[in-house]
Amino acid sequence: MKSFRLSKSKYLSGLQCHKRLWLEIHKPELAPPPPPGQQRIFDQGTTVGELATEDFPDGVLIEADYLNIPEATKQTEEALANSADVIFEGCFTHDNVLVRPDIILRNDLGSWNMIEVKSSTSVKKENIHDVAVQTWVLRGYGLEVERVFLKHINRECVYPDLSNLFKTEDITEPVEAVLSTIPNKLSEYKSMLVKHEPNNSIGGHCSNPYDCQFIDYCWKDVPEYSIFNVPCLRWPIKERLIQGNHFTIDQLPTEIPLGNKQKEYVESLEQRKSIVNRDGISDKLDELEYPLYFLDFETDNPAVPRFDGMHPYELFPFQYSCHIISRDGKVIHKEYLHESKSDPRKLLAEALVKAIGKKGTVIAYYVPFERGVLNSLVEWFPEHSVALGSIADRLWDQLDIFKKYYIDYRFKGSNSLKNVLPVIVPSMNYENLAVSDGSEAQVTWNEMIRSPETDEKSKLINELKEYCGQDTMAMVEIHYHLNRLIGFPFPSEDKPEVIV
Ligand code: SF4
Repeated sequence: MKSFRLSKSKYLSGLQCHKRLWLEIHKPELAPPPPPGQQRIFDQGTTVGELATEDFPDGVLIEADYLNIPEATKQTEEALANSADVIFEGCFTHDNVLVRPDIILRNDLGSWNMIEVKSSTSVKKENIHDVAVQTWVLRGYGLEVERVFLKHINRECVYPDLSNLFKTEDITEPVEAVLSTIPNKLSEYKSMLVKHEPNNSIGGHCSNPYDCQFIDYCWKDVPEYSIFNVPCLRWPIKERLIQGNHFTIDQLPTEIPLGNKQKEYVESLEQRKSIVNRDGISDKLDELEYPLYFLDFETDNPAVPRFDGMHPYELFPFQYSCHIISRDGKVIHKEYLHESKSDPRKLLAEALVKAIGKKGTVIAYYVPFERGVLNSLVEWFPEHSVALGSIADRLWDQLDIFKKYYIDYRFKGSNSLKNVLPVIVPSMNYENLAVSDGSEAQVTWNEMIRSPETDEKSKLINELKEYCGQDTMAMVEIHYHLNRLIGFPFPSEDKPEVIV
Protein backbone atom coordinates (compact mmCIF):
# COMPACT_ATOMS: atom_id res chain seq x y z
CA MET A 1 0.00 0.00 0.00
CA LYS A 2 1.36 3.43 -0.94
CA SER A 3 2.33 5.38 2.15
CA PHE A 4 2.26 9.15 2.61
CA ARG A 5 4.46 11.10 4.97
CA LEU A 6 2.35 13.12 7.39
CA SER A 7 3.40 16.25 9.25
CA LYS A 8 1.90 17.34 12.53
CA SER A 9 -0.38 19.80 10.76
CA LYS A 10 -1.61 17.11 8.37
CA TYR A 11 -2.34 14.83 11.31
CA LEU A 12 -4.44 17.64 12.83
CA SER A 13 -6.17 18.27 9.47
CA GLY A 14 -7.20 14.61 9.44
CA LEU A 15 -8.64 14.97 12.94
CA GLN A 16 -10.77 17.87 11.72
CA CYS A 17 -11.94 16.18 8.50
CA HIS A 18 -10.63 13.23 6.45
CA LYS A 19 -11.47 15.02 3.25
CA ARG A 20 -9.34 18.00 4.28
CA LEU A 21 -6.32 15.73 4.76
CA TRP A 22 -7.03 13.94 1.47
CA LEU A 23 -7.25 17.24 -0.44
CA GLU A 24 -4.06 18.57 1.19
CA ILE A 25 -2.19 15.50 -0.08
CA HIS A 26 -3.82 14.95 -3.47
CA LYS A 27 -5.24 18.30 -4.59
CA PRO A 28 -3.45 21.07 -2.67
CA GLU A 29 -3.88 23.37 -5.68
CA LEU A 30 -7.59 23.70 -4.81
CA ALA A 31 -6.72 25.81 -1.76
CA PRO A 32 -6.55 29.56 -2.46
CA PRO A 33 -3.52 31.47 -1.11
CA PRO A 34 -4.00 32.45 2.55
CA PRO A 35 -5.55 35.91 3.01
CA PRO A 36 -3.27 38.70 4.35
CA GLY A 37 -4.84 38.41 7.81
CA GLN A 38 -3.87 34.74 7.95
CA GLN A 39 -0.29 35.53 6.96
CA ARG A 40 -0.16 38.02 9.84
CA ILE A 41 -1.23 35.26 12.27
CA PHE A 42 1.58 33.04 10.94
CA ASP A 43 4.11 35.87 11.22
CA GLN A 44 2.94 36.67 14.73
CA GLY A 45 3.36 32.99 15.65
CA THR A 46 6.95 33.10 14.36
CA THR A 47 7.76 36.18 16.44
CA VAL A 48 6.21 34.63 19.54
CA GLY A 49 8.12 31.39 18.92
CA GLU A 50 11.41 33.27 18.69
CA LEU A 51 10.75 35.19 21.91
CA ALA A 52 9.87 31.96 23.71
CA THR A 53 13.34 30.55 23.00
CA GLU A 54 15.08 33.52 24.69
CA ASP A 55 14.76 31.75 28.06
CA PHE A 56 17.22 29.14 26.76
CA PRO A 57 20.29 31.02 25.51
CA ASP A 58 22.31 27.79 25.02
CA GLY A 59 19.66 26.13 22.86
CA VAL A 60 20.65 24.74 19.47
CA LEU A 61 18.40 25.83 16.61
CA ILE A 62 18.00 23.34 13.77
CA GLU A 63 18.29 25.84 10.97
CA ALA A 64 17.54 23.65 7.97
CA ASP A 65 14.50 24.73 6.05
CA TYR A 66 11.16 23.07 6.83
CA LEU A 67 11.13 21.45 3.39
CA ASN A 68 14.71 20.19 3.57
CA ILE A 69 13.96 17.18 5.72
CA PRO A 70 17.20 15.20 5.15
CA GLU A 71 19.32 18.20 6.20
CA ALA A 72 17.08 18.97 9.22
CA THR A 73 17.26 15.33 10.31
CA LYS A 74 21.05 15.32 9.94
CA GLN A 75 21.43 18.54 11.99
CA THR A 76 19.14 17.12 14.69
CA GLU A 77 21.15 13.90 14.91
CA GLU A 78 24.34 15.95 15.22
CA ALA A 79 22.83 18.06 18.03
CA LEU A 80 21.80 14.92 19.91
CA ALA A 81 25.22 13.32 19.36
CA ASN A 82 26.89 16.50 20.66
CA SER A 83 24.81 16.21 23.86
CA ALA A 84 22.88 19.44 23.27
CA ASP A 85 20.65 20.03 26.29
CA VAL A 86 18.13 22.22 24.49
CA ILE A 87 17.08 21.85 20.84
CA PHE A 88 14.76 24.18 18.96
CA GLU A 89 12.80 22.83 15.98
CA GLY A 90 14.50 19.44 15.91
CA CYS A 91 13.31 17.15 13.11
CA PHE A 92 12.00 13.73 14.14
CA THR A 93 10.21 11.04 12.16
CA HIS A 94 8.46 7.89 13.34
CA ASP A 95 6.19 5.64 11.30
CA ASN A 96 6.26 8.22 8.49
CA VAL A 97 4.99 11.03 10.72
CA LEU A 98 7.30 14.04 10.91
CA VAL A 99 7.31 16.63 13.68
CA ARG A 100 9.46 19.62 14.56
CA PRO A 101 8.85 20.35 18.27
CA ASP A 102 9.46 23.98 19.25
CA ILE A 103 11.68 23.18 22.24
CA ILE A 104 12.98 19.94 23.78
CA LEU A 105 15.01 19.97 26.99
CA ARG A 106 17.24 17.21 28.30
CA ASN A 107 16.70 16.28 31.94
CA ASP A 108 19.50 15.25 34.35
CA LEU A 109 18.83 11.54 33.94
CA GLY A 110 18.74 11.69 30.15
CA SER A 111 14.99 11.86 29.66
CA TRP A 112 13.44 14.85 27.84
CA ASN A 113 10.73 17.42 28.36
CA MET A 114 8.99 19.09 25.46
CA ILE A 115 7.58 22.61 25.23
CA GLU A 116 5.13 23.64 22.52
CA VAL A 117 4.81 27.40 22.05
CA LYS A 118 1.48 28.95 21.08
CA SER A 119 0.46 32.56 20.60
CA SER A 120 -2.96 31.87 22.14
CA THR A 121 -3.72 32.87 25.73
CA SER A 122 -4.87 29.48 27.08
CA VAL A 123 -4.63 25.74 26.48
CA LYS A 124 -7.19 24.58 23.92
CA LYS A 125 -8.46 21.08 23.17
CA GLU A 126 -6.70 21.01 19.80
CA ASN A 127 -3.38 21.85 21.50
CA ILE A 128 -3.57 18.56 23.39
CA HIS A 129 -3.71 16.57 20.13
CA ASP A 130 -0.98 18.75 18.65
CA VAL A 131 1.39 17.99 21.55
CA ALA A 132 0.25 14.35 21.73
CA VAL A 133 1.26 13.53 18.16
CA GLN A 134 4.66 15.15 18.73
CA THR A 135 5.14 13.19 21.95
CA TRP A 136 4.16 9.98 20.14
CA VAL A 137 6.74 10.61 17.40
CA LEU A 138 9.52 11.56 19.84
CA ARG A 139 8.94 8.41 21.89
CA GLY A 140 8.77 6.29 18.74
CA TYR A 141 12.03 7.88 17.60
CA GLY A 142 13.65 6.77 20.82
CA LEU A 143 13.58 9.78 23.13
CA GLU A 144 12.21 9.21 26.58
CA VAL A 145 9.72 12.08 26.88
CA GLU A 146 8.80 12.65 30.50
CA ARG A 147 6.74 15.79 30.73
CA VAL A 148 5.16 18.04 28.11
CA PHE A 149 4.21 21.69 28.43
CA LEU A 150 2.33 24.38 26.55
CA LYS A 151 3.92 27.82 26.70
CA HIS A 152 1.30 30.39 25.79
CA ILE A 153 0.84 34.15 26.02
CA ASN A 154 0.09 35.54 29.49
CA ARG A 155 -2.50 38.30 29.40
CA GLU A 156 -1.24 39.65 32.76
CA CYS A 157 2.01 40.84 31.18
CA VAL A 158 2.30 44.64 30.91
CA TYR A 159 4.63 46.44 28.50
CA PRO A 160 7.52 47.36 28.86
CA ASP A 161 8.15 44.47 31.27
CA LEU A 162 7.96 41.42 29.01
CA SER A 163 9.59 39.09 31.55
CA ASN A 164 6.23 37.38 32.15
CA LEU A 165 5.04 37.39 28.54
CA PHE A 166 4.56 33.62 28.71
CA LYS A 167 2.78 31.23 30.99
CA THR A 168 3.86 27.58 30.90
CA GLU A 169 1.34 24.88 31.75
CA ASP A 170 2.09 21.21 32.32
CA ILE A 171 -0.27 19.27 30.03
CA THR A 172 1.33 15.83 30.46
CA GLU A 173 -1.83 14.22 31.85
CA PRO A 174 -4.33 15.17 29.12
CA VAL A 175 -1.70 14.39 26.49
CA GLU A 176 -1.06 10.91 27.93
CA ALA A 177 -4.83 10.35 27.88
CA VAL A 178 -5.09 10.72 24.09
CA LEU A 179 -1.79 9.09 23.05
CA SER A 180 -3.34 5.66 22.65
CA THR A 181 -5.76 6.98 19.98
CA ILE A 182 -2.95 7.98 17.62
CA PRO A 183 -2.06 4.60 16.01
CA ASN A 184 -5.70 3.96 15.12
CA LYS A 185 -6.08 7.42 13.66
CA LEU A 186 -2.95 6.94 11.57
CA SER A 187 -4.10 3.62 10.16
CA GLU A 188 -7.48 5.19 9.29
CA TYR A 189 -5.64 7.97 7.45
CA LYS A 190 -3.37 5.54 5.62
CA SER A 191 -6.22 3.49 4.18
CA MET A 192 -8.31 6.60 3.42
CA LEU A 193 -5.45 8.29 1.54
CA VAL A 194 -5.01 5.49 -0.99
CA LYS A 195 -8.70 5.55 -1.93
CA HIS A 196 -10.78 8.04 -3.92
CA GLU A 197 -11.66 11.45 -2.51
CA PRO A 198 -13.76 10.94 0.62
CA ASN A 199 -17.31 12.13 0.64
CA ASN A 200 -17.42 14.06 3.92
CA SER A 201 -20.32 16.49 4.23
CA ILE A 202 -19.79 20.16 4.85
CA GLY A 203 -20.74 21.36 8.32
CA GLY A 204 -19.68 23.21 11.45
CA HIS A 205 -16.36 21.35 11.38
CA CYS A 206 -15.34 23.34 8.27
CA SER A 207 -14.36 26.20 10.54
CA ASN A 208 -13.80 24.39 13.83
CA PRO A 209 -11.21 24.24 15.28
CA TYR A 210 -9.56 25.81 12.23
CA ASP A 211 -10.88 27.53 9.10
CA CYS A 212 -10.49 24.95 6.34
CA GLN A 213 -8.78 26.18 3.18
CA PHE A 214 -11.09 24.10 0.93
CA ILE A 215 -14.34 25.87 1.79
CA ASP A 216 -14.67 27.40 -1.70
CA TYR A 217 -14.33 23.94 -3.21
CA CYS A 218 -16.56 21.95 -0.86
CA TRP A 219 -19.27 24.59 -0.45
CA LYS A 220 -19.57 25.41 -4.18
CA ASP A 221 -22.99 23.78 -4.49
CA VAL A 222 -24.52 25.81 -1.67
CA PRO A 223 -26.84 28.32 -3.37
CA GLU A 224 -26.35 32.07 -2.91
CA TYR A 225 -29.40 32.22 -0.64
CA SER A 226 -29.52 29.17 1.58
CA ILE A 227 -30.31 27.80 5.03
CA PHE A 228 -26.90 29.16 6.10
CA ASN A 229 -28.24 32.70 5.79
CA VAL A 230 -31.10 32.19 8.25
CA PRO A 231 -29.93 34.22 11.24
CA CYS A 232 -28.86 32.17 14.27
CA LEU A 233 -30.12 28.85 12.90
CA ARG A 234 -28.53 26.30 15.23
CA TRP A 235 -25.89 23.90 13.91
CA PRO A 236 -27.73 20.68 14.89
CA ILE A 237 -30.61 21.81 12.65
CA LYS A 238 -28.25 22.78 9.84
CA GLU A 239 -26.39 19.44 10.12
CA ARG A 240 -29.71 17.61 9.77
CA LEU A 241 -30.58 19.58 6.65
CA ILE A 242 -27.11 19.05 5.17
CA GLN A 243 -27.48 15.30 5.62
CA GLY A 244 -30.66 15.47 3.54
CA ASN A 245 -28.95 17.73 0.97
CA HIS A 246 -31.50 20.40 1.81
CA PHE A 247 -29.80 23.73 1.28
CA THR A 248 -32.53 26.05 0.02
CA ILE A 249 -34.96 27.86 2.27
CA ASP A 250 -37.99 26.16 0.73
CA GLN A 251 -36.55 22.90 2.04
CA LEU A 252 -36.73 24.11 5.64
CA PRO A 253 -39.17 21.69 7.29
CA THR A 254 -42.21 23.47 8.68
CA GLU A 255 -41.85 21.74 12.05
CA ILE A 256 -38.56 23.57 12.74
CA PRO A 257 -39.41 26.32 15.21
CA LEU A 258 -38.22 29.71 13.97
CA GLY A 259 -37.87 32.89 15.99
CA ASN A 260 -39.31 36.20 14.78
CA LYS A 261 -36.11 37.40 13.11
CA GLN A 262 -35.68 34.05 11.38
CA LYS A 263 -39.28 34.10 10.16
CA GLU A 264 -38.84 37.63 8.83
CA TYR A 265 -35.69 36.60 6.96
CA VAL A 266 -37.47 33.63 5.37
CA GLU A 267 -40.42 35.86 4.46
CA SER A 268 -38.11 38.45 2.90
CA LEU A 269 -36.43 35.77 0.81
CA GLU A 270 -39.65 34.08 -0.25
CA GLN A 271 -41.18 37.39 -1.32
CA ARG A 272 -37.88 38.72 -2.66
CA LYS A 273 -38.38 42.06 -0.92
CA SER A 274 -37.21 43.90 2.15
CA ILE A 275 -39.35 44.10 5.28
CA VAL A 276 -39.14 47.60 6.69
CA ASN A 277 -40.70 49.03 9.82
CA ARG A 278 -40.83 52.72 8.83
CA ASP A 279 -42.25 53.90 12.15
CA GLY A 280 -39.48 52.14 14.04
CA ILE A 281 -36.86 53.73 11.78
CA SER A 282 -38.48 57.13 12.11
CA ASP A 283 -38.55 56.94 15.93
CA LYS A 284 -34.94 55.85 16.02
CA LEU A 285 -33.82 58.65 13.67
CA ASP A 286 -35.73 61.16 15.81
CA GLU A 287 -33.17 60.51 18.57
CA LEU A 288 -30.42 62.16 16.50
CA GLU A 289 -29.10 65.62 17.31
CA TYR A 290 -27.09 67.74 14.90
CA PRO A 291 -24.30 67.92 14.03
CA LEU A 292 -24.05 64.23 13.20
CA TYR A 293 -20.62 62.65 13.56
CA PHE A 294 -20.13 59.34 11.72
CA LEU A 295 -17.17 57.72 13.46
CA ASP A 296 -15.06 54.65 12.81
CA PHE A 297 -11.77 53.45 14.33
CA GLU A 298 -9.19 51.09 12.89
CA THR A 299 -7.28 49.19 15.55
CA ASP A 300 -4.48 46.73 16.12
CA ASN A 301 -4.07 44.16 18.90
CA PRO A 302 -0.65 42.48 18.66
CA ALA A 303 0.18 39.37 20.68
CA VAL A 304 3.34 41.07 21.95
CA PRO A 305 2.46 44.50 23.36
CA ARG A 306 4.48 47.45 22.04
CA PHE A 307 3.34 50.47 24.05
CA ASP A 308 3.45 51.50 27.73
CA GLY A 309 0.91 49.92 30.03
CA MET A 310 -0.51 47.60 27.37
CA HIS A 311 -1.30 43.89 27.72
CA PRO A 312 -0.93 41.19 25.04
CA TYR A 313 -3.76 41.37 22.50
CA GLU A 314 -5.03 44.63 23.99
CA LEU A 315 -6.61 46.73 21.30
CA PHE A 316 -5.42 50.25 20.44
CA PRO A 317 -6.57 52.62 17.69
CA PHE A 318 -4.17 53.83 15.01
CA GLN A 319 -6.70 55.58 12.74
CA TYR A 320 -10.11 57.15 12.77
CA SER A 321 -12.37 58.63 10.13
CA CYS A 322 -15.22 61.00 10.90
CA HIS A 323 -17.74 62.45 8.45
CA ILE A 324 -19.74 65.30 9.94
CA ILE A 325 -23.15 66.48 8.71
CA SER A 326 -24.26 69.86 9.96
CA ARG A 327 -27.91 70.89 10.24
CA ASP A 328 -27.77 72.65 6.86
CA GLY A 329 -26.68 69.39 5.23
CA LYS A 330 -23.06 70.36 4.68
CA VAL A 331 -20.67 67.40 5.00
CA ILE A 332 -17.06 67.65 6.11
CA HIS A 333 -14.50 64.91 6.63
CA LYS A 334 -11.89 64.67 9.40
CA GLU A 335 -9.44 61.87 9.96
CA TYR A 336 -6.27 60.82 11.73
CA LEU A 337 -3.82 58.13 10.67
CA HIS A 338 -0.68 57.46 12.68
CA GLU A 339 2.16 57.12 10.18
CA SER A 340 5.14 56.06 12.30
CA LYS A 341 6.13 53.21 14.64
CA SER A 342 5.65 55.39 17.73
CA ASP A 343 2.66 55.08 20.08
CA PRO A 344 -0.40 56.39 18.19
CA ARG A 345 -2.79 56.67 21.12
CA LYS A 346 -2.13 60.16 22.46
CA LEU A 347 -1.99 61.97 19.12
CA LEU A 348 -5.09 60.16 17.97
CA ALA A 349 -6.98 61.03 21.17
CA GLU A 350 -6.00 64.70 20.82
CA ALA A 351 -7.05 64.81 17.17
CA LEU A 352 -10.35 63.13 18.03
CA VAL A 353 -11.34 65.55 20.79
CA LYS A 354 -10.54 68.43 18.43
CA ALA A 355 -12.65 66.92 15.64
CA ILE A 356 -15.76 66.12 17.66
CA GLY A 357 -17.54 69.03 19.25
CA LYS A 358 -19.43 69.13 22.53
CA LYS A 359 -22.84 68.69 20.96
CA GLY A 360 -24.29 66.29 18.43
CA THR A 361 -24.85 62.57 18.05
CA VAL A 362 -21.89 60.29 17.35
CA ILE A 363 -23.00 57.55 14.98
CA ALA A 364 -21.12 54.27 14.76
CA TYR A 365 -21.90 50.91 13.27
CA TYR A 366 -21.78 48.44 16.19
CA VAL A 367 -21.32 50.86 19.05
CA PRO A 368 -19.77 48.43 21.60
CA PHE A 369 -16.58 48.49 19.53
CA GLU A 370 -16.24 52.30 19.37
CA ARG A 371 -17.30 52.57 23.03
CA GLY A 372 -14.60 50.08 24.03
CA VAL A 373 -11.93 52.08 22.18
CA LEU A 374 -13.14 55.37 23.74
CA ASN A 375 -13.18 53.86 27.25
CA SER A 376 -9.61 52.66 26.78
CA LEU A 377 -8.55 56.13 25.63
CA VAL A 378 -10.18 57.60 28.76
CA GLU A 379 -8.19 55.19 30.93
CA TRP A 380 -4.91 56.00 29.18
CA PHE A 381 -5.47 59.78 29.02
CA PRO A 382 -7.54 60.90 32.02
CA GLU A 383 -6.73 64.50 31.09
CA HIS A 384 -9.15 64.05 28.15
CA SER A 385 -11.71 62.04 30.11
CA VAL A 386 -14.42 64.72 29.95
CA ALA A 387 -14.26 65.19 26.17
CA LEU A 388 -13.77 61.49 25.40
CA GLY A 389 -16.45 60.45 27.92
CA SER A 390 -18.85 62.91 26.32
CA ILE A 391 -18.20 61.35 22.88
CA ALA A 392 -18.85 57.89 24.34
CA ASP A 393 -22.07 59.11 26.00
CA ARG A 394 -23.40 60.41 22.68
CA LEU A 395 -22.83 57.20 20.69
CA TRP A 396 -25.78 55.97 18.64
CA ASP A 397 -25.83 52.66 16.79
CA GLN A 398 -26.88 52.63 13.13
CA LEU A 399 -26.71 48.84 13.25
CA ASP A 400 -29.75 48.79 15.60
CA ILE A 401 -31.95 49.79 12.67
CA PHE A 402 -30.92 46.70 10.73
CA LYS A 403 -31.28 44.49 13.77
CA LYS A 404 -34.78 45.69 14.56
CA TYR A 405 -36.50 47.46 11.69
CA TYR A 406 -34.97 46.53 8.36
CA ILE A 407 -34.70 42.97 7.07
CA ASP A 408 -33.51 42.18 3.57
CA TYR A 409 -32.72 38.71 2.27
CA ARG A 410 -29.85 40.18 0.23
CA PHE A 411 -27.97 40.92 3.48
CA LYS A 412 -27.65 37.12 3.62
CA GLY A 413 -28.41 36.95 7.30
CA SER A 414 -25.64 39.32 8.37
CA ASN A 415 -26.11 42.98 9.27
CA SER A 416 -22.45 43.88 8.92
CA LEU A 417 -21.67 47.05 7.02
CA LYS A 418 -19.94 44.95 4.34
CA ASN A 419 -23.20 43.06 3.70
CA VAL A 420 -25.68 45.91 4.08
CA LEU A 421 -23.88 48.62 2.08
CA PRO A 422 -23.81 47.04 -1.42
CA VAL A 423 -27.54 46.31 -1.16
CA ILE A 424 -28.55 49.75 0.05
CA VAL A 425 -25.98 51.77 -1.88
CA PRO A 426 -25.12 49.63 -4.92
CA SER A 427 -22.56 52.15 -6.13
CA MET A 428 -20.45 51.47 -3.01
CA ASN A 429 -18.77 48.23 -2.04
CA TYR A 430 -15.45 47.04 -0.69
CA GLU A 431 -14.45 44.82 -3.57
CA ASN A 432 -12.35 47.33 -5.48
CA LEU A 433 -10.50 48.71 -2.47
CA ALA A 434 -6.86 47.67 -1.87
CA VAL A 435 -7.74 47.37 1.83
CA SER A 436 -11.10 45.70 2.16
CA ASP A 437 -11.53 44.75 5.82
CA GLY A 438 -10.27 45.45 9.33
CA SER A 439 -7.67 42.69 9.36
CA GLU A 440 -6.22 43.86 6.04
CA ALA A 441 -6.09 47.37 7.53
CA GLN A 442 -4.00 46.00 10.43
CA VAL A 443 -1.60 44.26 8.04
CA THR A 444 -1.32 47.37 5.83
CA TRP A 445 -0.78 49.69 8.80
CA ASN A 446 2.01 47.52 10.20
CA GLU A 447 3.66 47.41 6.78
CA MET A 448 3.25 51.16 6.29
CA ILE A 449 4.78 52.25 9.62
CA ARG A 450 7.84 50.09 8.92
CA SER A 451 8.29 51.44 5.39
CA PRO A 452 10.85 54.12 4.56
CA GLU A 453 9.50 57.44 3.27
CA THR A 454 8.91 56.30 -0.30
CA ASP A 455 6.11 56.32 -2.85
CA GLU A 456 5.20 52.88 -1.56
CA LYS A 457 4.58 54.30 1.92
CA SER A 458 2.40 57.07 0.45
CA LYS A 459 0.44 54.47 -1.46
CA LEU A 460 -0.23 52.46 1.72
CA ILE A 461 -1.28 55.64 3.54
CA ASN A 462 -3.76 56.45 0.78
CA GLU A 463 -5.15 52.91 0.81
CA LEU A 464 -5.75 53.06 4.57
CA LYS A 465 -7.41 56.46 4.34
CA GLU A 466 -9.59 55.32 1.49
CA TYR A 467 -10.75 52.24 3.43
CA CYS A 468 -11.53 53.92 6.76
CA GLY A 469 -13.08 56.91 4.96
CA GLN A 470 -15.32 54.55 3.01
CA ASP A 471 -16.61 53.03 6.27
CA THR A 472 -17.86 56.38 7.54
CA MET A 473 -19.03 57.59 4.12
CA ALA A 474 -20.97 54.32 3.91
CA MET A 475 -22.78 55.24 7.14
CA VAL A 476 -23.56 58.68 5.70
CA GLU A 477 -25.03 57.12 2.55
CA ILE A 478 -27.06 54.67 4.61
CA HIS A 479 -28.30 57.58 6.70
CA TYR A 480 -29.49 59.35 3.52
CA HIS A 481 -31.19 56.17 2.36
CA LEU A 482 -33.01 55.69 5.68
CA ASN A 483 -34.21 59.29 5.62
CA ARG A 484 -35.60 58.93 2.11
CA LEU A 485 -37.25 55.68 3.11
CA ILE A 486 -39.31 57.39 5.79
CA GLY A 487 -40.20 60.21 3.44
CA PHE A 488 -37.93 62.78 5.02
CA PRO A 489 -36.93 65.20 2.28
CA PHE A 490 -33.35 65.43 3.43
CA PRO A 491 -30.93 65.26 1.84
CA SER A 492 -31.87 65.93 -1.71
CA GLU A 493 -30.86 63.49 -4.40
CA ASP A 494 -28.09 66.00 -5.24
CA LYS A 495 -25.83 65.02 -2.43
CA PRO A 496 -23.78 67.76 -0.86
CA GLU A 497 -20.13 67.91 -1.68
CA VAL A 498 -17.81 66.51 1.00
CA ILE A 499 -15.35 69.10 2.26
CA VAL A 500 -12.09 67.61 3.49
S1 SF4 B 1 -14.42 22.42 3.65
FE1 SF4 B 1 -15.27 21.12 5.22
S2 SF4 B 1 -15.81 19.24 4.21
FE2 SF4 B 1 -14.40 20.31 2.87
S3 SF4 B 1 -12.42 19.51 3.39
FE3 SF4 B 1 -12.72 21.32 4.60
S4 SF4 B 1 -13.53 20.61 6.53
FE4 SF4 B 1 -13.78 18.94 5.06
